[in-house]
Amino acid sequence: MKTLTETMRGLAARSPWIYRINAGSCNGCDVECATTACIPRYDVERLGCQYCGSPRHADIVLITGPLTARIKDDVLRVYAEIPDPKVTVAVGICPISGGVFRESYAVHAPMDQYIPIDVNVPGCPPRPQAIIEGVALAIDIWRERL
Ligand code: SF4
Repeated sequence: MKTLTETMRGLAARSPWIYRINAGSCNGCDVECATTACIPRYDVERLGCQYCGSPRHADIVLITGPLTARIKDDVLRVYAEIPDPKVTVAVGICPISGGVFRESYAVHAPMDQYIPIDVNVPGCPPRPQAIIEGVALAIDIWRERL
């Protein structure tokens, strides 16, 4: 007979939930993330996951933007609300290196100074196919951590 923990792991393994944090992006990457949520051709839910509206329900987090000074504390607070084990995907070159904003006084990129990044999806913005590949990698990592 399975323990409750094993049962919960099995349930969770079937359906990781994705949450998205905008850390001061220009919204270009967010539009591409939205494409994976609402355009059937790029529907990321085919991988057995779904977007959710609360960080407390999330297993995988997509982060866009260069982590601006204005929003940094809020991003770190919301990130801390996501329960472990969580997997973090940096979407776009902004969270990876700061991208076109990297020398600005108003950003704190790269993101991995503050948040452990598991998967990088480069591009400005990355294509939906690349985001789907990043989510697929994140699901594999998440299942290993359960
Ligand atoms: S990587 Fe490019 S598209 Fe994405 S938030 Fe940065 S500047 Fe915008």
